[in-house]
Amino acid sequence: MNCECGMNGLKVKKITVGSHVNPEYWHLIDDDFYACQNPECDIVYFNKLAKFTLNQVKTRVFFKATGSSRPLCYCKQVTEEDVLKTIEEGARSVEEVEKVTELGDGKFCVVTNPLGRCCKEYYTKFINKHLSIKERSIKKKLEMAEEEEKRVDSCCT
Ligand SMILES: [Zn+2]
Repeated sequence: MNCECGMNGLKVKKITVGSHVNPEYWHLIDDDFYACQNPECDIVYFNKLAKFTLNQVKTRVFFKATGSSRPLCYCKQVTEEDVLKTIEEGARSVEEVEKVTELGDGKFCVVTNPLGRCCKEYYTKFINKHLSIKERSIKKKLEMAEEEEKRVDSCCT
């Protein structure tokens, strides 16, 4: 089912929607919903009969939020910022980041994660992206240092 914005919705269970939507709207939850992952769109959950917008949802929804402190793992309350810090401090693989932050170690995704799914798929992508950014910047620094060395060498001959 498509959202009003045109984005294809991701099916989400009733129990998941219930744990993120403000209690005053619980009477509207009588079936499964779809989540709209378009960050430009205000609708978080929708189905044929109802829709819930950002201000009706109490959870900070990672697929709508912006900024570096977006939540990655809801069970263990790990944010993007925590992961970036871990990488900065020397973690070099997804497994190392998991070990330090306890990412993905929770078992309650169906109620804690607003998509009702395990966060692993999302944080793995995020970590790999930032590990490769860091690797590239280290390589660049090394190259620049080498270049610098060459320059120093050549000016003395
Ligand atoms: Zn939408």
